[in-house]
Parts: sequence; C-alpha cells; structure tokens
Amino acid sequence: MTNNPPASQHNAIQLQDAGHHIHPFTDTKALNKKGARVINRGEGVYVWDDQGNKMLDAMAGLWCMAIGYGRTEVADAVHAQMQELPYYNTFFQTTHKPVAELAKKLAEISPEAINHTFFTSGGSDANDTMLRLVRHYWASLGKPSKKVIISRKNAYHGSTVAGASLGGMTFMHEQGDLPIPNITHIGQPYWYGEGGDLTPDEFGLLRARELEEKILELGEDKVAAFIAEPVQGAGGVIIPPDSYWPEVQRICDKYEILLVADEVITGFGRTGERFASETYDLKPDVICIAKALSSGYLPIGGVMLSDRLADVVINQGGEFEHGYTYSGHPAACAAALKVLEIMDREDLPNYVKNDIGPYLQERWLKLADHPLVGEARMVGLMGALELTPDKATRAKFAVKAGTVGLMCREFCFDNGLVMRAVGDTMIISPPLVLSHDEADELIAKATAVLDLTYAAAKEAGYL
Ligand SMILES: *Cc1c(COP(=O)(O)O)cnc(C)c1O
Repeated sequence: MTNNPPASQHNAIQLQDAGHHIHPFTDTKALNKKGARVINRGEGVYVWDDQGNKMLDAMAGLWCMAIGYGRTEVADAVHAQMQELPYYNTFFQTTHKPVAELAKKLAEISPEAINHTFFTSGGSDANDTMLRLVRHYWASLGKPSKKVIISRKNAYHGSTVAGASLGGMTFMHEQGDLPIPNITHIGQPYWYGEGGDLTPDEFGLLRARELEEKILELGEDKVAAFIAEPVQGAGGVIIPPDSYWPEVQRICDKYEILLVADEVITGFGRTGERFASETYDLKPDVICIAKALSSGYLPIGGVMLSDRLADVVINQGGEFEHGYTYSGHPAACAAALKVLEIMDREDLPNYVKNDIGPYLQERWLKLADHPLVGEARMVGLMGALELTPDKATRAKFAVKAGTVGLMCREFCFDNGLVMRAVGDTMIISPPLVLSHDEADELIAKATAVLDLTYAAAKEAGYL
C-alpha cells in the first residue's frame, strides 16, 4: 500500500514548503531549488515518500523512533487522554494522572539513585533546565561561585541558547554569539579522528585527564558540572575508548563535580541497557532524556535528578523559578507511558543487548573490509562507518570534508536506506524493534551503497 498522491499534489506540497517553511539545519535556498522529499507514511522500521519509495529508516527518524512507526496503541492512548484532559499545567500546585504516573515510572526504571524528574518538551530545553538546576543546586549549598559547566568539543546538547552553548559545534557557536559565559569545552574521546599513533586506551586516558586539567586550571570552587553524551550521537556516533569513562568518573568524584549524562539519544535501550550510564557504569547526578522516551510520537523530555541533588533542590532550594507551559503535558506523558509499557512488554533493552545488537554488530563490523571504510564501530544499536581514501593511515579525503559522505547519503536514499552523514562518517541508529531480516536488508543495502559511493568517488577523482 503506497498511497501515491497525484504528481500535482506532490508539487503542491513542495511548493508550499519551499514558499513558507524554514527547515532546521538546512540551507533553505539550496533545498528550495530541488524541493524537499515528502514523507507521508511509516510502518515498523520503514517510511514511504509520496512517490511510493519505501525506505528502511536506519536513523529511527532522528534517533527517536525506538518502538517503530505505526503503533496504534500509542495513538489510542493519546486519543483517550486528549478526550479526558488534553491539557493542564503543573504550575499552580496542580498535577494530573499521566504526569504523576510517568514520574513514578521513570523513578522505577532509572538507575537506583535517581528518583525525580522535571519535565520539558524536548532535549534542548532539558539541557537549559539542567544548567539552571545545577547552578541553583550549588547556590543553595552556599557555593554560588560553582557555575562553570565543562563540556566537550563536537558535543551536541541541542539548539537553544544554552543547549548550543553546551554543545561543542563551532559552526553553531558562530551564529548568535555563542557560547554564553561560564561554559567551556575540552577535547572529545574520538580516537579514529584524533588519536594519531596512540592506542585507543592511551588516547581515552589522555582525553579524560583534560577534564582534570581544566578543573585545576579553573579551580574546583568554580566548576559546577561536567556534561557529556555517554556516546556522542550527532557528532558521529563516537564510542569512547574503554579507558575513558572510568577515569572521568574518578575525576568527577575526586573534585566533587556533578556528572551530567545527556542521554537524550542513549536513553531507553539504545545501547542495550535502559540507560547508557549502566552500559558504562556511570553514576550520573543528572540524566537528560527525550527522544526515545516517547519514541517521537509526541514531544517530551526531562531532567532526572539524583537523590543528592533532589534533596537540596527540594528541601533547601525554595522555589525553582523555571518552567515550561508544556512541562508534563498530559497527552505527551500518556504517549511516553504507553511507549515505556511497550518497551517493557517487548523487553527491548534486552533484545538489543542479547539478540539484535550482537546480530547487527557482527555484520556491521565486517563492513570495515570494504575499501572505502576506515573503521566500523557499533554499540547497542548505534553505529558508524568512517569513509576514507586510505584505510592504513585513516586519511581524510582531499576534497572538502563531507563531500563523499553526502554522495553516500544520496545513494542511500536512492536505494531505500536512510543513513545520515556527519562529514564523511555514515551513522545509523535504527529502531530497536529491527528484525534479523531487516538487519540483513540494512547490511545488504549499506554494502551496495558503499560500492556505488566507491565507484562514484573514484570517477570524481577523490580516491
Ligand atoms: C537531539 C539531542 C538534543 C536536543 O534534543 P531536542 O529534542 O532536539 O531539543 C540534546 N542532546 C542530545 C544528546 C541530542 O541528541
């Protein structure tokens, strides 16, 4: 069933879009010339465009579609909630069933020391909330000077002013005069790209110790927190060397620096545990969540606080002067509750850890044998392929960074596979419900696309 609208309607959508819609992270002028691809249906791990092309969505939308498209149960739960109470706020000493239930559910499934959640509409505003909360925490303890947040280059923490400032993407900082004060960035544990002749473990330790150097440089009394994605997502699925996280945890403990895990991507099963903090044995004081929390069915995010923080914020902090109209939106909470119920029922983190994760990983890692691939890596169900003209030296292409990646991405679309290009790194994060057959299809398509990209890059003289 492809549901093809007539060509004229296709044009109408593209024309409306080109005429009036400004797309995120897009050169709108360039896009308008060719017209946006119109996606009009999703089922399981597939999406269809309005030309009837079926694509295996190996990005799960934008990392979020964990339980797959087309789960009518979620739509039904939202429908019922909307008929009962479509909206009410949680500002005026009021609450409602879905938000209270969701907060309780999150306390149950999060790491043991974490039992409180502040709700937001997504991941960016979760990080804004986090920034205000951790500074408020230290101020409540009589240490208002502890306000610097240390983050990492090439991190992604969202697009709001605080989110983009916390992020380490220089091309984002260049627009809008960012970062805001009292945010600083250290190096990332990206061994493939920056590790040179060091072993991954040597390099991991080196990058972890930059945190210690930065704390000593600024003074412990000035630093509030260190924020990081357990596995960098938008930066290119950067999986840190084994040595990295234990050393970071040691440093945070030693200097009493709060550890903030931005689990907006890694939360809810992506790495094979409910939270990547468990995968990497981290003891975060704060976990930021969004995306798979509602599987993208409705927008919702949150900031989860450890008991140590919650105790101070609640019992010593007085009124927290912060909140969003849609904090704890009833319909979004109902969607999240249903999504979490489905994840439990289908035991998805376990399925990722012990079944589909190892199955896909085994096949994905073999793509490193392809002449265009310098490294293949994967944890849980998030993976990357580094494209290179020279496997031995991990060289970059002589042509502008991202040129070959973009070629590859276009071949993906044309061959029924959605992968994302981050520079010349191809990344995937498929729905957690991926079956073995679908995993085989993903690998077959990725292989075909690598062959096409190799041939085209060779012809263009990039190899
Ligand atoms: C996507 C993302 C965000 C931003 O979330 P939005 O819902 O887009 O605001 C923040 N942090 C990480 C790690 C993300 O991947």
